Amino acid sequence: MSLQSLLAEHGAEWLEECLYLDPAHARAYAADAYAFDSQPPPAVFLPRTQTELQRVVKACVEHDLPMAPRGAGTGLSGGCVSREGAVQIGCSRLRRIVEIDPLDRIAVVEAGVVNLELSQEARRWGLYFAPDPSSQIASTVGGNFAENAGGPHTLKYAVTRAHVLGIRMIDAEGEWVELGGPHAPMPGGDLLGLHCGAEGTLGIVAELILRLSPRARAVYTVLAAFDEAEDAADTVAAIVAAGVVPAAMEFIDRVVLRAVEEAFELGLPVEAGAVLLVEVEGSAAAVAAEKERVLHECRSHGVRQLREAGEERERARLWKARKHAFGALGRLAPRYATQDGVVPRAEVPAIVRRVGEVARAHDLTIGIVLHAGDGNLHPAILYDDRDPRSVRAALDAGHEILEACISLGGSPTGEHGVGLEKRDFLDRLWSGYELEQMAQLRQVFDPQERCNPAKLLPSGAGCGEGRPRHRRGILP
Ligand SMILES: Cc1cc2nc3c(=O)[nH]c(=O)nc-3n(C[C@H](O)[C@H](O)[C@H](O)COP(=O)(O)OP(=O)(O)OC[C@H]3O[C@@H](n4cnc5c(N)ncnc54)[C@H](O)[C@@H]3O)c2cc1C
Repeated sequence: MSLQSLLAEHGAEWLEECLYLDPAHARAYAADAYAFDSQPPPAVFLPRTQTELQRVVKACVEHDLPMAPRGAGTGLSGGCVSREGAVQIGCSRLRRIVEIDPLDRIAVVEAGVVNLELSQEARRWGLYFAPDPSSQIASTVGGNFAENAGGPHTLKYAVTRAHVLGIRMIDAEGEWVELGGPHAPMPGGDLLGLHCGAEGTLGIVAELILRLSPRARAVYTVLAAFDEAEDAADTVAAIVAAGVVPAAMEFIDRVVLRAVEEAFELGLPVEAGAVLLVEVEGSAAAVAAEKERVLHECRSHGVRQLREAGEERERARLWKARKHAFGALGRLAPRYATQDGVVPRAEVPAIVRRVGEVARAHDLTIGIVLHAGDGNLHPAILYDDRDPRSVRAALDAGHEILEACISLGGSPTGEHGVGLEKRDFLDRLWSGYELEQMAQLRQVFDPQERCNPAKLLPSGAGCGEGRPRHRRGILP
């Protein structure tokens, strides 16, 4: 069976408004924000309603067509890119905020709702959706769920999984499935948790029940500039060791700082080696106490300048430096690749040093943004996609940085997912036994591997027989 047979059989009117076969659409939906891989899909479906979404999936099942779910396409690991002839099924038209219940602090929303739009809508009740990926002006809650997205404020408030109570999705057979519900916690196995972060391999989410959080009563935000990047990195560990869990603690290095200042003229201290953007929030008394501890640690580590946000406008300006950092980098080179690795917090100074070494070895410019409190770094590797040597150098540099993260006891992805890009790193992280169990779990939900084929698990992950049942160094 094939796409042609689907079209012949379903040449129906309902398809006309949601199926795109022209080369322009194929090109537009060929990639996400991961620069190194693209593949025009054979067809793009953009259903307008949940009913249409199910009809599309059912038609794909009948005609044995693999499917690649897609939100806004802001993913950074090639997660929604078509593989093995998968048609794209985009959820971006499913944008209804079905209900906001301020008493139970719950929102019911369709998967294509944009993250920031939900918080803007919930604001009138003093609520917001806590996961705040820096892509929040574009990324969808369905994509956030599928990637278990993080963000600057997930240091204190945890990643997306902690804020999803239930989902309504279409499984690999085209049938509706509901998991979880508005009144957590649910006893028994955590099937919802299994689906969160599954990167579209277990079905297509149509609707979510999300937990909303109350806005903090008091917030204190400061930008601390340091001469040396390592002093900023040391301050991160010191603040946490002092017992403070900031709402956010972001590290921005000199390369990124200068690009942002050139783009937005925010009056940033461009001579600094790096800045920390630290935010504490809670009750007025707690914020006052934590502010003193943060300032003490900054001063103990030789801070050269402190810029405090006295009012909301100034706070927004400081956050602009962080949230628009990647956009600003586009001014410095034809292309950049954003990497995503994690190290234990104590190793943040070591990984910052290592990124500098890798940049020098490959004669590349690499800017660093870090969700520093989580040890989650995003080196932005600048390169020229018209020069094959530059592309090779960028790929090698990214690889070496991720290797360094693993060697330092961390992981090759913190929040951008495995997608296509990181599949081959998983052998380094998991035992054959663990990978095999994961592959078998996938088989339970999608035996034909129709949903997002060739993603998330390394090829051959289901052949772990005879491999060790544990990783070296974990068990005695
Ligand atoms: C500038 C920039 C900053 C970013 N900052 C952050 C950050 O701070 N934190 C962070 O975690 N990420 C960040 N990202 C990465 C990205 O925005 C997130 O992974 C986001 O959650 C992807 O959402 P999306 O709607 O764009 O999904 P897509 O990119 O379209 O898809 C991502 C994955 O989800 C699957 N998927 C999408 N929708 C559905 C659905 N309805 N049902 C089932 N599967 C689905 C896809 O198949 C794919 O595997 C950033 C990206 C950019 C470009």
